[in-house]
Amino acid sequence: MMRARVIPTLILLVVVFGFSRTAAAQTSDLDPRIVKLVAEISEERLEKILEKLESFETRNTLSSTTSTTRGIGAAREWILQEMRSYSPKLQVSFDAHQVPKQGRITRDVELRNVMAILPGRSPRRIYVSGHYDTVARAGGQGAANASGAPRDPDAAAPPPADPNAPLDNLAPGVNDDGSGTALTIELARVFSQSGIDFDATLVFMCHAGEEQGLVGARLHAQKAVEEKIPIEAIFNNDIVGNDKGGNGIIDGATIRVYSEGPEDSPSRELARFVQRWGGRYVPSHRVRPMARPDRFGRGGDHSAYNQLGFTAVGFRESRENFTRQHDVRDTFEGISLPYLAQNARVNAAAAATLALAPPPPGVTSDRGQPLITRAPSGYDANLRWNASPGAAAYRIFWREAWGPDWEHELLVGDVTNVVLPNMQIDDYIFGVAAVDTQGHESFVTAYVAPARANTAIRSGSAGQ
Ligand SMILES: [Zn+2]
Repeated sequence: MMRARVIPTLILLVVVFGFSRTAAAQTSDLDPRIVKLVAEISEERLEKILEKLESFETRNTLSSTTSTTRGIGAAREWILQEMRSYSPKLQVSFDAHQVPKQGRITRDVELRNVMAILPGRSPRRIYVSGHYDTVARAGGQGAANASGAPRDPDAAAPPPADPNAPLDNLAPGVNDDGSGTALTIELARVFSQSGIDFDATLVFMCHAGEEQGLVGARLHAQKAVEEKIPIEAIFNNDIVGNDKGGNGIIDGATIRVYSEGPEDSPSRELARFVQRWGGRYVPSHRVRPMARPDRFGRGGDHSAYNQLGFTAVGFRESRENFTRQHDVRDTFEGISLPYLAQNARVNAAAAATLALAPPPPGVTSDRGQPLITRAPSGYDANLRWNASPGAAAYRIFWREAWGPDWEHELLVGDVTNVVLPNMQIDDYIFGVAAVDTQGHESFVTAYVAPARANTAIRSGSAGQ
């Protein structure tokens, strides 16, 4: 009578931990420190940063580096000094790479990402990023789209007449991606001045070389692999400041979050996490998860991290104005400060929650097998996971195997095994998140069946 014993155990777990949670200090799903941090996001600050970024006239990765007022050299120096001014806790530096001529990099160049590290209690890292480099070309993005040409909107511009001359044509890039850069810089300020002792190390990263093919992001991701830097999650923001579509449709109340598949990849779970926690701290702004790596045929820096196995999502405004992208018209007039601030608040809420939570639990064995079985009855859902450092409880989630969003959740206390009697593991997707004593929750790790081995069967005529 195994089943008879399992049912009361589960009920008991839920009752005991459900009660102690209510009886403890926590009386809200929201952490007042995160509420305060989110409220610190300032439209005026974002405006000042955007105006400064626009003043450099171009931030093309191949532009001049000698001027102190114009081009990417002046821009990166200003970003470095600006973030340094926020707090002595922020470790701000150039993440520099010598890049020889290749692809859209038309001459040897020194590429510098600008990186601000806010050390946490543990080395695991959470990134908030944008790209500060820009590009503008004749006709811009709008003409290319409207012509119906199957051209990749992010394709290379024609090579310059003199590849060794700086590419100094006007490329203000206030939305692409001044918006994501300003958001990243503003979050560096509010996080470093919050006084919160985060568990995870936060990194505020302004990439270069995005417009030449995600070059700065890829170089940093390669270094992270080589140096075994434990990057847990990347929130990439690119084109997040405009709420008026070029077709006249206005939407300042939603943000798209793109993530690569398959359905229960860590990046998808990160997108679901942003929807869950962004929605709790910023209920006036709706997160729209998109089940694809990015917009149709277009790219962004999160994909450079995905390609090397990191968990990363891309934030994109809901209604784009293509006539302003990769164009001299990408100016401050194309920005909605209230909209950009809302997107910054969603990023802040999700990144702060994740940085205070324990790391997501592992749900596979040493041999990579998912720790889910039908025991003990043969018809149950038996979930096991590896304890996450700092966790005080776990929350399990499930949904019909057809659905995109978690439908059910259950807090189960400080255990590493739960049995849900008569729940057929074939009919549901299951996952588990780690929760600390104050309710900070990790993103979910889902139980995913390994792919079936693709084994060819030899065949031959009878008698051979
Ligand atoms: Zn961009």
